[in-house]
Amino acid sequence: MSKPVLKTREQIELIRESALIVSKTLGMLAPLIKEGVTPKELDKLAEEFIRDQGAEPGFLGLYGCPSTLLTSVNEAVVHGLPTDIPLKNGDIVSVDCGSLKNGFYGDHAYTFAVGEISEDARLLLERTKKSLYLGIEAAVYGNRIGDIGFAIQNYTESFNYGVVRELVGHGLGAKMHEAPEVPNYGKRGRGKKIEEGMTLAIEPMINMGTRRIKQLKDGWTIVTADGKPSAHFEHDIAIIDGKPEILSTFKYVEEALGIPVTA
Ligand code: MG
Ligand code: MG
Repeated sequence: MSKPVLKTREQIELIRESALIVSKTLGMLAPLIKEGVTPKELDKLAEEFIRDQGAEPGFLGLYGCPSTLLTSVNEAVVHGLPTDIPLKNGDIVSVDCGSLKNGFYGDHAYTFAVGEISEDARLLLERTKKSLYLGIEAAVYGNRIGDIGFAIQNYTESFNYGVVRELVGHGLGAKMHEAPEVPNYGKRGRGKKIEEGMTLAIEPMINMGTRRIKQLKDGWTIVTADGKPSAHFEHDIAIIDGKPEILSTFKYVEEALGIPVTA
């Protein structure tokens, strides 16, 4: 990671196109995420759907990733490989997806409730999603990357949640992961300046218990060290006229779920 690659308006539109393909993919999956479906089934549908849009799955083959989706169930934080284990009532599952079209990536994620979930889990999802928007609001010209992390950390730690340190958001563009890193923790006024034309993937990973994590023997799946659940929401944004514009959308997911649309 070196310097952020600042994008032209035209390039931002291409990133938006890729981001919206992911948004629609997540929206297509949303009504299917029910007890009994397997993450591998969802993965196959997502790959077909992305290719039907004239795009390629963004994760498949990247760093050797074997799948289109990363599906992280309950104590899995991120990078869960899709399995044949059916989802159960009460699970939460982060579905993270990338796409590549016209040479630019989209990358975003939503954590879904499977059937009826506990009140604690429901609050974790609600607050993690809210923290994503607080982070985005802080991504204005004149602020620094640390202001984004501060906003996310300050809010989520007020509920005694753990903010994962080892995995972070990132710049996004012709590469899935570009500079700068965008931690979900930080200090006000610290880090790189937020600049016009920056494109960022902001993605809080928030644990109900300890912030500590470990990796499973599959070499991919990251889980909480205490086995408590973790949530993950991710949007792609661009800094346009000094303000954050959200390029991806949860509209398709939230309309499919019949809940109020956030952004
Ligand atoms: Mg992602
Ligand atoms: Mg990402």
